[in-house]
Amino acid sequence: MAFVVLASVSCGAGEPVASPATSDSVHETPESPMSVPASAGQKSTPAPSPTGPPPFSAKVSRVARDQLPYSWRPGCPVHYRDLRLVTLTYWGFDDKAHTGQLVVRKTVTGDIVTVFKRLYGWRWPIKQMKLVDAYKGDDYDSIDADNTSAFNCRPATGSSNWSNHAYGEAIDINPRENPYVTASGSTAHQNAKKFAKRPVSGKGVVNPGDKVVKAFSRVGWEWGGYWSGTKDYQHFSKSGG
Ligand SMILES: [Zn+2]
Repeated sequence: MAFVVLASVSCGAGEPVASPATSDSVHETPESPMSVPASAGQKSTPAPSPTGPPPFSAKVSRVARDQLPYSWRPGCPVHYRDLRLVTLTYWGFDDKAHTGQLVVRKTVTGDIVTVFKRLYGWRWPIKQMKLVDAYKGDDYDSIDADNTSAFNCRPATGSSNWSNHAYGEAIDINPRENPYVTASGSTAHQNAKKFAKRPVSGKGVVNPGDKVVKAFSRVGWEWGGYWSGTKDYQHFSKSGG
């Protein structure tokens, strides 16, 4: 509990896309007598920037084998040809628009785009969104970095069965703020301990009944925060598992 949440998250490990706030589209032309319009005497008040945050965009594309060097391998329950890369806009903890990437099964790309469009419209913040391959497929490291990700061909936590992530039908959102908590109340991630209880307030936190939970519910995805015993507050999945 040494430091305040906002202080620790605002250092942002995310990669900012060209910041809308600084993209001044109105360049003051250097004084060139030739180009000074008749009204040049007026002080040019900077108009409200016409370039606010960009509109939400999402692109769904096929995945090449070498884009998933760690998260996919032969023997996974879904072939990589049945997975899709979704590149989309999300709102960052730094109050700026970013571009993130998720891999999901091709059958659920519409669900994901629908939900994330809504989250962006609400400016609901997400810390960062990279493929788990950026962490060599290591779920622990991805979570520790507070990375939002979906597909990963791995067993369910504490099980020998495939996780829904291995089917590309589950996503973990802001895993630091929304940890996996055992029935006894513990979490494996030191940096997540202050978020082990619900409800709790904070940026990017998902609480029972939240609009985020409802947005997923509307496309048929269930929240791991409603599980009995173990709670997986970061986890949303198509089948509920
Ligand atoms: Zn999960």
